[in-house]
Order: sequence, then structure tokens, then C-alpha cells
Amino acid sequence: MTTQWVYSFGAKESNARPDTQGPVKNLLGGKGANLAEMASLGLPVPPGFTITTEVCTAFYKNAEQYPAELRAQVDAALKKIENAVGVKFGDAKNPLLLSVRSGARVSMPGMMDTVLNLGLNDETVVGLATSSGDERFAWDSYRRFVQMYGDVVLGVSHHDFEDILDQQKRDDNVFNDTDLSADAWKNVVAEYKALVKRDTGADFPMNPVDQLWGAVGAVFKSWMTARAVSYRAIHDIPEDWGTAVNVQAMVFGNMGDDCATGVAFTRDPSTGENYFYGEYLINAQGEDVVAGIRTPQSLTILGREKEGSNLPSMEETMPGVFKQLDDVRQTLEKHYRDMQDIEFTVQSGTLYMLQTRTGKRTSAAALKIAVDMVGEGLITKEEALLRLEPQALDQLLHPTLDPAAHKTILTRGLPASPGAASGIVVFSADDAEAMAKDGKKVILCRRETSPEDIHGMHAAAGILTTRGGMTSHAAVVARGMGRACVAGAGALQIDYETATMRVGDRVVKAGDVITIDGGAGEVMLGAVPTVQPELSGDFATVMQWADDVRRMGVRANAETPLDAKTARGFGAEGIGLCRTEHMFFDPTRIQHVREMIFANNAPARRDALAKLLPAQRGDFAELFEIMRGLPVTIRLLDPPLHEFLPQSDADIAEFARIANIGADQVRMRLRELHETNPMLGHRGCRLGMTYPEIYEMQARAIFEAAIKVDVTPEIMIPLIATHRELAVLKKLVDETAVAVFAETGKTVSYTVGTMIELPRAALTADEIAPDAAFFSFGTNDLTQTTLGLSRDDSALFMNDYLRQGVFARDPFATLDIDGVGQLVRIAVEKGRKVRPDIKLGICGEHGGDPASIAFCESVGLHYVSCSPYRVPIARLAAAQATIRENAGKKPDAVKRAA
Ligand code: PEP
Ligand code: MG
Repeated sequence: MTTQWVYSFGAKESNARPDTQGPVKNLLGGKGANLAEMASLGLPVPPGFTITTEVCTAFYKNAEQYPAELRAQVDAALKKIENAVGVKFGDAKNPLLLSVRSGARVSMPGMMDTVLNLGLNDETVVGLATSSGDERFAWDSYRRFVQMYGDVVLGVSHHDFEDILDQQKRDDNVFNDTDLSADAWKNVVAEYKALVKRDTGADFPMNPVDQLWGAVGAVFKSWMTARAVSYRAIHDIPEDWGTAVNVQAMVFGNMGDDCATGVAFTRDPSTGENYFYGEYLINAQGEDVVAGIRTPQSLTILGREKEGSNLPSMEETMPGVFKQLDDVRQTLEKHYRDMQDIEFTVQSGTLYMLQTRTGKRTSAAALKIAVDMVGEGLITKEEALLRLEPQALDQLLHPTLDPAAHKTILTRGLPASPGAASGIVVFSADDAEAMAKDGKKVILCRRETSPEDIHGMHAAAGILTTRGGMTSHAAVVARGMGRACVAGAGALQIDYETATMRVGDRVVKAGDVITIDGGAGEVMLGAVPTVQPELSGDFATVMQWADDVRRMGVRANAETPLDAKTARGFGAEGIGLCRTEHMFFDPTRIQHVREMIFANNAPARRDALAKLLPAQRGDFAELFEIMRGLPVTIRLLDPPLHEFLPQSDADIAEFARIANIGADQVRMRLRELHETNPMLGHRGCRLGMTYPEIYEMQARAIFEAAIKVDVTPEIMIPLIATHRELAVLKKLVDETAVAVFAETGKTVSYTVGTMIELPRAALTADEIAPDAAFFSFGTNDLTQTTLGLSRDDSALFMNDYLRQGVFARDPFATLDIDGVGQLVRIAVEKGRKVRPDIKLGICGEHGGDPASIAFCESVGLHYVSCSPYRVPIARLAAAQATIRENAGKKPDAVKRAA
């Protein structure tokens, strides 16, 4: 049996398969499948045929040779078009003209796009002039063809064609293309052909069949252009998908004033409003609408009024055709059950559909369209949830740049924490705080941030760093606070001495204003206007639907009252990680912490800790109050001790004064505590093992606070490698509980659990689980230690790794399922085996990443925990994960609306 390489559509004898979605879409490409589908719906589609994506794949497999049967199949399909239209390709008297377009499965920039009016030559142009009775139209079409074919197939510069056209207009003293006469176009064509000859060394092809194969070849060749190849690499599009080629009878929007061409969306793609949104041009061909040579007019009266335009709408100029087009809009939406992006042409009062595809839209529009379509009975709630892109909700949660605003980009970094913020450039946390106190908005610019900068980060509207990745201190803290952050902007050089930063020869000084877009990773000069989010209405509706279906809980990582309140506002069902060290950095407490570190015996340490106790107790009480009735997981102290010590000379002097010791002594202690590799050093439970007083004080503060509020604290021990560490520290916590309960005469229920952040802990989870009421996967450290990859330094080379396909995504942003995920799975299985009711959650940054959340669903975690601003994203992603998991178990579980 010979392979069918060519599928016809739109003609009576078309042989496209009836179901043109799914596998057939892969064969015909998006454009071809939708043309065939529109034709089978009875919509007016000019007849044509699609050369399948398999031809593209075969072409490249076979040293750029076409399959042997292709020519005969193309000839036969061309005959069908000729029969349907009643004119012949290459006929000197009344020629059939064709359009040739590429069409991969997904639309792809970098590919050859379109050649129109193919089949014209010096002879057929005369036939077209006679048959149409319009010489000017014929030569206008011919010059368009020579230019498009010359540009996209023969590679002659578009600008050189434009120069010739401009010269002609100057010679004829006219402004618009439409004012040029037939003779002028004849002259332009002659010059265009001379240009092609000069540039390519060959005559412009006159044989229509050669033209057709030239254009088909150009489409297939464009699959391998550098731009297309790099687009595929970025978007994970396999090379063997190939592109299809669509060949279709031309219809003309440029044959007079009863002709037009246009593009439209079935709903407004920026707001989602349900009205027909689009533009058209009378007496024009498709490329004129996008080229911006003439101002397109709105399709509808409503659209015209919204734009404040007084150019007449199509609804007014061509009411009959408009009504037909509006019916097509309804038919397409009902059929595809989604907003469509369409192209059409009107030839002598007759409507033709040239394309339909799912329309791209803003996040706000996506939300409105999904909710409206459920209301209209077009889709189910589950489908609505699955259609929304969780990450795109980010756009709705933070102020975003006004899309209409002009921007001058200074440099780019990682999109570390979404939102857009403008402010005055400051280079230190203290300056940030001081200026914010004066009511100024500032952007804190640092090479990197450390816990000492927290107050400045809090005071700043946005944070910009030149080093560090997606889980660097700046990124994690900014996300937690909901501050916009661009991290690791490597091209930027900060000089603290001169209080300047530069990219190349562009210098920005302290006091200048910049804008950062943490969703896009862009840094811009000056203040770019922003727009505020709207979280009620459709947003709230979708969140409610998500909550109705999801299985996993969603908690927040939060420690400050502000973050906790924000998290609750976003629907968090508790706190999954309270990083207590962040509570120690408060300027009023840090001195007590330092005294504690300087103490050289346990009693002295206890004295210092006693001063911290009331503050810790107060913090916890406030947190418990905000989260009343919900679970709160408090992690005992984690970072290395030297992070708490003063670093700058001024800080050292100040601490020496307060502690009444010499600055030299402070420096000596700093040297003692300094670690070569602090991430693998004296941190996490290792602090509790060596200074049990610290954990004891923290446990006491938790119990004393919990007694007053209705809450079940979950006390979490970090960085466990062995079950012995947990056993020792759990005993300490339990003994503290007994003591507090005895002192107060009151009890409170609590649990003790552990983070799983080290491979050894995951592998020995069955030994650890007997002492752990819960496991919370700390996948930031688990990724760092499994891959042996520093979470603070990997950004330096991550892009090279991504480019070379070592990782599909940054493993600190999306869980490395094959490696780190395997450890999570092992720990879940081993933990459950010995403790079936063990509570399981995740609190690494991955807890807010949709792909990682899907993995968490698949291993059956009970909840995910993420930064407050990611809570809505996680709620939607968790709902999608549940729907997909269920659909995987029961193929028809995702119901389609009637
Ligand atoms: C983790 O390691 O994933 C975690 C949540 O802890 P931290 O980021 O505070 O190290
Ligand atoms: Mg950790």
C-alpha cells in the first residue's frame, strides 16, 4: 500500500479524515487540520490540500529527497482544486492562483510563513487582468508575488524590494500603495525581477509548477533554519514532528471595494469580554492588515466605539457578510469550545475562511473566558481548570507593567519573584530602610543578599541582584515577601564604593529610578507605569472550583505576621514551613542572638536565650492567632551561626560596645565560626545537637504560645541525616513539653516531625519514621545534596546546562523527578511502611511549581507548602493534578460538557 502523503480539503472530492484533531492534527499540522475541519463543518474554505508533516520527516531522513509518490499525489490534489474552482493552474487566459503556507503542529516563529498569488508570471498576469477585468489588480498581485517569493523562497532582502517601491511612489508623487497605477506596478515588477536576477544570479522562475515546488521546498527547508531550531529547543518541540505545507486556491480581498481581508478573535483576547474583536481592511490582501501600511478598521460598531475610532466598521460597511462572519464565529466557538483566532477574506461580497486556531490571550482573559464558557455550558468546570496555566496566575497577583507603556531595557536576569516595581536605586539595606521610612519607593540593588539585608528587602519595593539563582537568598525571601525580584543579572556590575552599577557603558547611580519586572526578569530605566491586580470575581470563582476538586492541601511558607496574613488571604490552609531563623534577624533581637553565640558555657548561653524567649513566644502567639484552627509547622533554627555575627567594621564595633568586649575578640570568634562550606556545615539539627539550649528555648516558646491559642503545633527538626539525631532532639522537645505543661498546668497537643533534605534521610526513612509524625520534603537542600550542586552558585552555569539539554528545567525550580523525585518516592514508601498514618508534605520551593506539584500528587503527599504569593497557583495546580491523576485511572473521568 502506498502512503498517503497529501490530503485534500474544501473540494467535493476531498479526502481529509473526518476527525482532524488528535493524531490527524499531528499529520496535517495545526493549520491544515483546522482548514479541513472548517471545511467539513460546511464553512466556506477555499479548496486546497495539505502535504503532511511525515513528508517533512521523510525529506530529512532521506538526504532531502521527497517520497517517490509525492509528485503524483500533488498533481492529483491540484486537479481537485482546479475542478472545484473551474480554472487551471498556469492557464494563460484564466489562471488559478495558489497560496502556500507552512503549518507545524504548533505555530512556530522562524518558519517560512506564506507565499500568496503563486502561479503568476509574465503570461498569466495578462490572463488575470483580462479574466478579472482589472489590470491594476492583476499587476498589484504580481508585484506582491514576486516580492514575497523573492523574499521568503529566494532569500532576497525585503528592504531592497521596499526601496524600489518607495522610489516608485516618489517618482509618481503618491503616498499610498493603493494610489499606484497598473503601469506603475508593471514598472515595479520589472525592477523586482531585475533585483532577483542581480541578487541570485538566476531569472525569477516563470514556470508555475517550478514556483510551487520552490515554495514547498522553502517551507520544508525553513524547518531547519537556526531560528526554528532554537525555538524548538526552548519550547521542547521534537525535531521529528516536522511541518506540513498547505496549498490553497487564492481568494482576493484586493479586487475592489466589495472585497476585504481581516483577522479576528471570537472574544477580546486582552479582557476576555465576549464580543467579536477584530480588524479588517477593504480592498486589501492579508499581509496589509499586519504590515501597518493602512490603518485597519474595527469589525464591529462596539469595537469601533471602544477604540474611539470613527472609521466605519464592517458591521456597517458590509452588513450581510458581517452577519455571515458572525455566524461563523458562533459555529467555531461551539465546535472548538474555545476562543478562536481567525483569518478571513471577502472576495466580491463572498466570505472565505482562511484560518482558525485557538487564540492566545492574557491571563485575565483566560480566566474570564474559562468562567464564561462554563456559564454558557460550553465546557465543564474541570475543563476550565485544565485550560488555565497556573504560572500565568502570577500575572494577576502582582502589579504588572502597563502593556501600553514604553520601556527601555537596561539588562536581564532571572525572573525570581513576580511583579513589577519602580523605585530609587539604593545599594544597601540600611539606605533602603531609611528611604522607605521617608515614604520613598526603592529598589535594593545588591551583588547578592544575606540574612543581614532582610530589613532592607522588606522596606524595598523590589530587589535586584547580580549573582545567585532561583533559590538564592534574594529569590526565596523576595517570593516569600511578595517583593518583585530579578536575581542573577550577570551583565550588571555593581560598585558599592562609587554607588553605581553599569552594563557596558550605561551607568546607573544611587538615586536614579529604575523599574524591574520580576515576572520577566527585566530591568528597565526610569519608572514604567504599572497596573494593580483584581482578585475577586472570576479569580475567586476559579479558586473555589479548584478547592472543590483538589486532593492535596495547600499551605504557605511564612514566618512574619504580614506573610501569614497574605497567605491566608490567598487561601493557605496552614503554614507548612516557618523558618524561625528569620525571626532572629530582627534588629532588636540580633544582639541577644550574638550574646548567645559568644557565651562560652551553657549557663551563659541560657541567660542570653532567656532574653530571646519572650520575643519568640510573642512571634509564635501572633502566628498561631492568624492561623487559628489551622496547622502550623515550625522549624527549629537552621542557618550556620556565623550568619548572625556582625560583618562590617561598624557592626563589629557596635556589638563590641554593647557586649563590653574588644573588637578583636569579636573578630576572633568570627574566625572560629567561619566555615569553608557552610551549606554542609554546622547548621540544621547539628546546631540543636551541639547547643541543645537553643532548640529547648524554641520548643518552650512554641508550647507557651500554643497553650493560649487553639492550635496544634507541628515541630520540625531540619537537616536530619540519621534517625539518632531525630531521636535525641525529639526527646529534648518532649521533655520541654512535659516541663512547660507541669509549670502551667495546661497541655496542648503537638507533633514532632522532620524535614527530609538529605539523601541519607530519604534512604533510611523507615528508621526515621518511628520518631517522626510527619515528613516535610525540603527539596531545596535535597536537590542541592543529591546533585552535589550549590543552590547559591548554580545560576552561574545553569543556562549552559539548560542549553545543552543536561536538565530540561532548572532543578531548583522544577523537581528533578528522575533523581531527587526517586528519593522522595523511596522516603514516602519506606516511611508509610512503618508508619502508615505519617503525614507527608513538601516545603522546598518546588511546592509552588505546577510540574513538581503534579509529581507530589502522584506520590500521594498530603499537602504542598509554598510562598504566600504562590498559594493560588498551587491551588490550581493541585486541582489539575487531581483531575489528571483521576483521568489516568479512569479514562472518561474528565467529563465533557454536552
Ligand atoms: C529546603 O531545603 O527545601 C527548605 C525548605 O529549607 P531551606 O530552604 O530553609 O533550607
Ligand atoms: Mg533546607
